[in-house]
Amino acid sequence: MQSDRMLLRGDDAAAPAARGSRVKLEPGGAFHPASAPDYLPLAQMRQLQLQRLRAVVRRAYDRVELFRRRLDERNFPPDRLGALADIQHLPFTTKADLRDTYPFGLFASSMQDVVRVHASSGTTGKPIVVAYTQQDLDVWTSVMVRAFAACGLDHGDVVQNAYGYGLFTGGLGAHYGAEALGATVIPVSGGNTDRQIMVLKDFNVTAICCTPSYFIHLIERAAELGVRMRDLPLRVGIFGAEPWTESMRRHIEIEGGIQAFDIYGLSEIIGPGVGIECPYHNGLHIFEDHFYPEVIDPDTGSVMPDGEEGELVLTTLSKQAMPMIRYRTRDISVLAAEPCPCFPSQIEAALLAVEGALPHYEILLTRHKGLDAVEVHVEVTPELFSDKIGTLEALRQRLSYAVEHTLGLKVEITLAAPRSIQRSEGKAKRVIDRRSLTSETS
Ligand SMILES: [Zn+2]
Repeated sequence: MQSDRMLLRGDDAAAPAARGSRVKLEPGGAFHPASAPDYLPLAQMRQLQLQRLRAVVRRAYDRVELFRRRLDERNFPPDRLGALADIQHLPFTTKADLRDTYPFGLFASSMQDVVRVHASSGTTGKPIVVAYTQQDLDVWTSVMVRAFAACGLDHGDVVQNAYGYGLFTGGLGAHYGAEALGATVIPVSGGNTDRQIMVLKDFNVTAICCTPSYFIHLIERAAELGVRMRDLPLRVGIFGAEPWTESMRRHIEIEGGIQAFDIYGLSEIIGPGVGIECPYHNGLHIFEDHFYPEVIDPDTGSVMPDGEEGELVLTTLSKQAMPMIRYRTRDISVLAAEPCPCFPSQIEAALLAVEGALPHYEILLTRHKGLDAVEVHVEVTPELFSDKIGTLEALRQRLSYAVEHTLGLKVEITLAAPRSIQRSEGKAKRVIDRRSLTSETS
């Protein structure tokens, strides 16, 4: 998971630290290779984002009249976008823009290239319409695969997809993601509560996708039918499409006997899969290689620094059919800069998959010439450490490869002597952040 910025939403933002870790990640089982491609060292991620931002702004300018007019009014041609921070010169897009251009006015692809259209239920007036090319659908599926993998799902899981299938993005978005992950999907769609409970019970369902309020309804109805939800094999719930509170989460987890994950998304951006909680429930990880987040002051429109609350604004970095530039979500959020605890867990899992490494390690975050770097010090077994230098070097290379291969992250591995890394009485302190100590300019 991309861990440099976490998104905390709504009431989550009030007490992000209160959640702590709930699940011990088992070495080797904590991540799925599909969750890795979004993990890039920060500098590379920013480079990728800039490159994609320039392309998507160029595309929107060339193909979407409303956007071109607004850039022209500002006298800001797409070529002036030299750095990520220049995004603040671009105009916002709002829900009203989608309504005003109904149905196809913001499409940046011809209908020949649009392979699917979704629409929101229009509670007031006309719905908003969104479009996808085949590549857009592939991106959507890949972020959903990452999202499910982050919840600990994999082959062998049976996913009851109780999001509505149809114009709403939830059903098909979750469907293709779970299928591509290799899980078994039961496309039960929304409604028909008694049948949902029958399927949950009879099909050995291990994960469910629906709104959190509907799951609470399922728990209650199941009890009326004499079924205790927490006695079923169900272990994971992926809940989204509406805001929910920590007290709802506790109720769901206790009564349902499951672990509840918040999934975030909106049709205007892609559908579900913009962000997901990891098992630390420490806020949402955003898939920043495809969706660029900003938090703004909703009154002035100015960009807030990380750590301050404001309105979440998202830019699609890879969308073809309907790029959204600086879309105002109206969701109140905070971008947290500190790394999520799942970051060391993923490194640990990669290290321990290699024979000879011990579960005693330290991760050092450093900064050289303005670039963040990661060093890992890991203890090796006494037998190996007394062995020939060549053996140790081979081990070091295997560890380095394991981390790079599984996280897509280049780290400097140092092998440490047995018992040389400080033991801790309580929770081990794995990450040592030396970035503020190392000179910015050195
Ligand atoms: Zn995490």
